[in-house]
Amino acid sequence: MISFPAMAASTRANSRRLFARAKRILPGGVDSPVRAFSAVGGTPPFIRRARGARLFDEDGGSYIDYVMSWGPLIHGHAPAGLTRALAEAAARGTSFGAPTTLEVELGLAVRRLMPSIERIRFVNSGTEATMSALRLARAATGRDRLIKFAGCYHGHGDAFLVQAGSGALTLGVPTSPGVSRAVAADTLVAEYNDLTSVERIFAKHRNRVAALIVEPIAGNMGVVPPATGFLEGLRELADQHGAILIFDEVISGFRAGPGGAQERFGVRPDLTCLGKIIGGGLPVGAYGGRQDLMDQVAPAGPVYQAGTLSGNPLAMTAGLWALSQLTPKLYRKLDGLGARLAAGLADAARQTDTDLHLNAHGSVLTPFFSATPIRNYQSARRADTAAYGRFFRGMLARGIYLPPSQFEGWFLSGAHSNPLVDATIEAAGATLRSMRRRAAPASASR
Ligand SMILES: *Cc1c(COP(=O)(O)O)cnc(C)c1O
Repeated sequence: MISFPAMAASTRANSRRLFARAKRILPGGVDSPVRAFSAVGGTPPFIRRARGARLFDEDGGSYIDYVMSWGPLIHGHAPAGLTRALAEAAARGTSFGAPTTLEVELGLAVRRLMPSIERIRFVNSGTEATMSALRLARAATGRDRLIKFAGCYHGHGDAFLVQAGSGALTLGVPTSPGVSRAVAADTLVAEYNDLTSVERIFAKHRNRVAALIVEPIAGNMGVVPPATGFLEGLRELADQHGAILIFDEVISGFRAGPGGAQERFGVRPDLTCLGKIIGGGLPVGAYGGRQDLMDQVAPAGPVYQAGTLSGNPLAMTAGLWALSQLTPKLYRKLDGLGARLAAGLADAARQTDTDLHLNAHGSVLTPFFSATPIRNYQSARRADTAAYGRFFRGMLARGIYLPPSQFEGWFLSGAHSNPLVDATIEAAGATLRSMRRRAAPASASR
């Protein structure tokens, strides 16, 4: 039987004190905005350690984790094989700033799984991957403009912070101050799952668009799978207009399946951006794709891009270990857990007359507090974020750690299990019932 251990520590006095202290040195108390819980209210537990599918906080509470470091931890927290490999690698030196076989091995492992990646460059984050891929696309086409989709998130590079998803959407600053007007003017925004909106932009900016970038399974306005024919249509439009098609598979890479969304949907992009799972929980990103494009990257070509810690031996070791464990059995398990969780949540919603729309793809899902289906940014924004906040706080008190925003995916890992999922469904039922009982619920506060 699974208990709800966090309930005992629900005041989280230590975490509250630590968060107040953090705010005196880190803006908002965090190093990445969504961690601060501003969209759901309350203060975040400070995490002391994690193991498997569980987080342990500084107040003696523990949680079943569905954030999983926002996607990277497909094998769970601190798997023994990984920590052993890292300890051995660290003993040989933590950084050399010189070539290693580890980078080559990881590159070959990626190419085996994603054959569209004929050449690859490792960087340190998804943000670096998308920024570099865009620079390359601009260089290769001699054009400046970029088409992205409202609600998609591609890291915090200036060009992408126009109608962006993830924390930008959560905090209500989808277009960030500090992005110059000139940069923002080169970013053209289309509507996800709407090919006509893309066609219209291409028609208006004929021969000016360098790249079309998309999350092939959107994950940063909550999970929004591509409609039938959407990705194929993007491939055709990019070809027709001589633009580079970039798949941002920072989430979907190695999660939608070993070969990512491009394998799942059978659409081959020109360039792919990777992050999250590829680093096994250490900071790694990568971009890669057609050889003729990648050979324009320095020093093979003139497009400059570099990194002091890129291809870092610890990070490459973690990535190699993570990719080596991507078995068919793992994906079968993840698909099973995802389906079980989605069905259980839908059931709990039905039993409490809650308007809930579940978007899911394999091991990542988002329950939207919405009466209507969510298929793009417009519809995602209609979700009831105050209801999500109440749900989030109820679940946290019951020992379930969910993404602190309506607009993020819940992530499963190989360390999750049917009993943990069932305990989560039970907690969701209890939370939804208590939300219903409260006739006039207070709205989420910042
Ligand atoms: C997380 C994410 C990024 C940014 O990666 P970082 O490592 O946080 O810089 C880019 N694109 C997508 C789709 C992401 O989910």
